[in-house]
Amino acid sequence: MGTTTVTRADLADLSAQFRGEVLCPGDPGYEQHRHVWNGAIDRRPAVVARCAGVADVMAAVRLARETGLTVAVRGGGHSFPGLSTCDDGIVVDLSLMKGTRVDLGTRTVRAQGGVLLGELDRETQAFGTAVPSGIVTHTGIAGLTLGGGIGWLTRRHGLTLDRLVAVDVVTADGSLVRASETENHDLFWGVRGGGGNFGVVTEFEYRLADVGPTVLAGPVFWPVGQTREVLRFYREWIAGAPEDLGTVVVHRRAPALPTIPTELHGRHVTAVMVCWAGNPDAGERVVAPLRRVGTPLLDLCFPKPYVTHQATFDPSFPPGRHYYFRSCDLGPLTDDVIDIFAEQAPLIRSPLSSFNYFHTGDGAPSRVDADATAFPGRHVSHTVNINGNAFTADDHGPEREWVHRLFDALAPHAVGAYTNFLMTEGEERVRRAYGERRYRRLQGLKTRYDPDNLFHLNQNVVPA
Ligand code: FAD
Repeated sequence: MGTTTVTRADLADLSAQFRGEVLCPGDPGYEQHRHVWNGAIDRRPAVVARCAGVADVMAAVRLARETGLTVAVRGGGHSFPGLSTCDDGIVVDLSLMKGTRVDLGTRTVRAQGGVLLGELDRETQAFGTAVPSGIVTHTGIAGLTLGGGIGWLTRRHGLTLDRLVAVDVVTADGSLVRASETENHDLFWGVRGGGGNFGVVTEFEYRLADVGPTVLAGPVFWPVGQTREVLRFYREWIAGAPEDLGTVVVHRRAPALPTIPTELHGRHVTAVMVCWAGNPDAGERVVAPLRRVGTPLLDLCFPKPYVTHQATFDPSFPPGRHYYFRSCDLGPLTDDVIDIFAEQAPLIRSPLSSFNYFHTGDGAPSRVDADATAFPGRHVSHTVNINGNAFTADDHGPEREWVHRLFDALAPHAVGAYTNFLMTEGEERVRRAYGERRYRRLQGLKTRYDPDNLFHLNQNVVPA
């Protein structure tokens, strides 16, 4: 892939039939739409095909196939390593495809590939329902679902991909297929965890869960010096906790947000962020012991609309900053891991950088048969994110180095990796993330659906 033989005539043909927009360098809108969320990624595609519907996606994929253009597929554009854009190729951009329809009769929702998490929540919460997803509302449902989807509701309602009923996929030959438990079952297995390896998913159909609209949620903050005490309590508290309890622990310097008193801005803090998915009164009883640990600096855990809580992290991850990232999965927190976290937390330099870990263990994901989907991480306890962030490329070096130091310290304790949290780390890391048996099965599927590896800008499964 990647030998470009696209001509002006090819692009004129594409434009003539396209319902969306075909943007080439120099066109109005090209500059805006060539960018992705991560400002550290600066690529110049030959064409950004802003698809308005399935027919546009099929046309764009066929053009790529016929010309040899490199293909990048963009849902929400939030791939950390920038896999939804490329130099000199074609971006199949679904961001205009926002159709969303809740069906209360079947308790399902259909959403097109360009929908963002906050947009899906907006539609589903109107009926007191939700699809469990991630924790930043401007992330795309597409990439998130295809790799897993972990967030506040994971323990109670499962991974995002566990809620899938069916998907529509444009495959490498440009045709549309539907995959579900009863149609193209092997493809349905693969898209649930195998990322964008098998084609462009134009529509997702999910089973809804009853959620909120009010949840007991928010962070409790402690001074960084109390990290060990907080984490030792946290470890016991979450062991056997009801599945309604979703938590993320965050270590950072307190952000300058209106909800945080100015005297705390910039101070190193450890926060346990809570989302109780059930009745808020029952949640109060579960959360009460957490509030009594050490001397909290600030307690913002109270009943609020689910959609408000979903947006808590949004101001910390705006588009355009320079982001760098490493991640691993952990088992239950050991004393050694707690020591690493407690030692590293005060070393965070930039107010933009942080590390956090989602608790996903002992909940709905682990009740699903490990072979039912391609997702590998059903039995991990925590998924760690280490974010080294900066306003500009000039400030980014030290943050990236810090990310690697913490990542290396955790490496002996890692039990796996979540593919949606990988950078471009090579085939071996992808293979290890899936495990040999699962990777081979994915390879077989890739060989069948995309033998030429047209869709290779992803956590790539190389055809056998
Ligand atoms: P894109 O950059 O558009 O795509 C990512 C990958 O998926 C690319 O390889 C792309 O080609 C492929 N892809 C995109 N759309 C399609 C499609 N329609 N069909 C086929 N392939 C497609 N993950 C979690 O699980 N939980 C979280 O809480 C969470 N929070 C995050 C917060 C931020 C700020 C960011 C940047 C990421 C977060 N993630 C989280 C990780 C997220 O799941 C991945 O980055 C995911 O790939 C983003 O999906 P996207 O559609 O926005 O990305």
